[in-house]
Amino acid sequence: MNNVVKRINEVMARQLAKPGLRGAINAKCIDCIYDPLAKGSWVDQVDQCTSAGCPLHNYRPQRKEPTPDHLKDPAKVALGKRLAAMNKEITE
Ligand code: SF4
Repeated sequence: MNNVVKRINEVMARQLAKPGLRGAINAKCIDCIYDPLAKGSWVDQVDQCTSAGCPLHNYRPQRKEPTPDHLKDPAKVALGKRLAAMNKEITE
């Protein structure tokens, strides 16, 4: 097992050890989006999730404060802006 997969599994296991749905939701989001080699912690990365259509989106772990710019993934920021513009067009 390479170090990236090992790190993801360790972080997921810590969340799955928590009782209730919180740990399970956190683990699912980690499994979905976390990249230990990318900027920011797993919470920083999940906070920037742009998949508004995901049933877990409103329940995903989020930072209490906005993600600082130096922790943002430029590709995710650009994608988020495009999706927000598309959603605006659809709803207007
Ligand atoms: S909310 Fe985002 S990170 Fe979490 S499972 Fe859904 S798409 Fe993945």
